Amino acid sequence: MQAQYDAVIVGSGFGGGVSACRLAQAGWRVCVLERGRRFGRGDFAEELKQAPRLAWHHKVNPGGLYDVRLFGDVSVLCAAGVGGGSLLYANVQLPAKPEVFESGWPAEIDLDSLDPFYRRVEEALDPRPTPELPKTRAFAAAGSAAGRAAELTPLAVHFGDDRLNPFSGVPQQGCTNLGRCLLGCPRHAKNTIDLTYLARAERDGAEVFPLHEVLRLEPRRRGGHGWRIGFRDLQYRTRGTVEAPVVVLAGGTLGSTRLLMENRRRLRRLSPALGTRFSANGNALGAIFDPHAPEVRGAHIEYGPSITSKLDYWEERRFIIEDLGVSEPFMGLLEGIRGANRLVGWRRQLLRVKQALARCGLSDRSVTPRELKLKGNTPLADPFAFLFIGKDASNGRMRLTRLLRRFDVTFAREDSRALFDAMEEQLAELGVAVRGDPVFSLDNGPLGQFITAHPLGGCPMSDEHATGVVDQYGRVHGYEDSLLVLDGSIVPSALGANPSKTIAALSERGIAQLVGAGGA
Ligand SMILES: Cc1cc2nc3c(=O)[nH]c(=O)nc-3n(C[C@H](O)[C@H](O)[C@H](O)COP(=O)(O)OP(=O)(O)OC[C@H]3O[C@@H](n4cnc5c(N)ncnc54)[C@H](O)[C@@H]3O)c2cc1C
Ligand code: SF4
Repeated sequence: MQAQYDAVIVGSGFGGGVSACRLAQAGWRVCVLERGRRFGRGDFAEELKQAPRLAWHHKVNPGGLYDVRLFGDVSVLCAAGVGGGSLLYANVQLPAKPEVFESGWPAEIDLDSLDPFYRRVEEALDPRPTPELPKTRAFAAAGSAAGRAAELTPLAVHFGDDRLNPFSGVPQQGCTNLGRCLLGCPRHAKNTIDLTYLARAERDGAEVFPLHEVLRLEPRRRGGHGWRIGFRDLQYRTRGTVEAPVVVLAGGTLGSTRLLMENRRRLRRLSPALGTRFSANGNALGAIFDPHAPEVRGAHIEYGPSITSKLDYWEERRFIIEDLGVSEPFMGLLEGIRGANRLVGWRRQLLRVKQALARCGLSDRSVTPRELKLKGNTPLADPFAFLFIGKDASNGRMRLTRLLRRFDVTFAREDSRALFDAMEEQLAELGVAVRGDPVFSLDNGPLGQFITAHPLGGCPMSDEHATGVVDQYGRVHGYEDSLLVLDGSIVPSALGANPSKTIAALSERGIAQLVGAGGA
């Protein structure tokens, strides 16, 4: 690693990958610091017994893929690894719903102004619908039984013969419907950020340092021009620093917000809005067990990409429903939707204790590999699982607790009660239509707590310093010329869709402005 770069980027998911790529293309000397490892084709879990190795923990398992966090009101799933959330996501690439921009966003951002940047993201991630599968037919049949036409979702997956990725030149195999998208694709058929934006950034000279976790952010001179970034190397357990005139924080909703909070005393001009507008993107899980309608039976949700289709109830009810599948060895986890806890023995109790400690502000650790040991699979009677995504109140809050300065998220689910009730009602209707047993799950799953895979907010965008941490381009109010945040934390409201495409488009927009404005 060199001592100085033109820009240091913290994190390598959607925001970090886009930033690295576009800055390197513009000729900047770019350094990317990522706390997770690089994943090759053979590095992903295949069997349930390998589940413990999925859990990222900075000390005991820095090579893990999932960072599972328990907070007082909510559990959050996020990623660690070069490529961030793209490694484990379900590949859905949807734009935000136009109405979400009507309140709480900077005046200049709406669907039209984001459109050119959505197109750039499409050029890199190449989304397409899956070819027809038993589960797409079954989902469409369930929708039509309930009077709603299903639509295939655009997926950033390569369906076809082996190829060189057209954006980056990296070799890829075609999708063979393994259903392991949420565990990492062993064929590299997913057009993930490491195989697209980051590969291209590295081709253009960017340097990526895996297993480097950033802890400290320090203005190099009074006035905040230029930065010294302190990190720990999780492989060799050493510490170091690197300097740059421009820093882009892209550690994700939890990562960037936490970093700013922990460095706040060195960053006195930060907005009081830091930590506000947390949203779970209206996530909820549901399932219909044992449907009797013949055209819906035998959906084989384990075969094919993890999400393939959606039913859109946005116009009337402000949510959408997507199908959700996992590969055969992990199917038993879906029992969690109806309350079966698949954690083995004492781990359940330990998790309860940790949740209680989190609630009291005494702990904020990631779930460790030892705690994630899961019970063997039980065959399920033809389940049909769903992810709900809707417009929640987006008024949660991230904070450091008073006593021990632990990172915590508070999120009053009651404020979004009408949304969750409407989802439950809709699932019941679907259950009647396909003659199955519907279960709506807000508090179940292996963690036995409300859970989101789409955390947003914490460094919200706003035109005003008082109400936003960053401006419409991701520039931190008070440090506009040198510190940016470009990731899910700047999204100030639920999106009505899976978030990654909007995060990537906002990052494209922010970097286009930075590069256009000069900078390094
Ligand atoms: C199971 C699952 C399925 C999903 N499916 C979809 C989907 O189909 N479509 C969709 O749009 N969205 C999906 N999402 C959500 C999506 O993955 C996230 O919204 C997206 O990855 C967020 O992008 P980001 O750039 O904000 O952060 P991330 O992609 O999370 O990247 C942040 C990166 O920063 C690193 N980092 C954090 N802190 C530090 C630090 N201090 N130092 C160094 N590195 C750090 C992290 O390790 C991580 O790699 C899914 C999420 C999950 C968990
Ligand atoms: S279905 Fe299988 S092969 Fe296709 S993208 Fe997902 S994990 Fe890869």
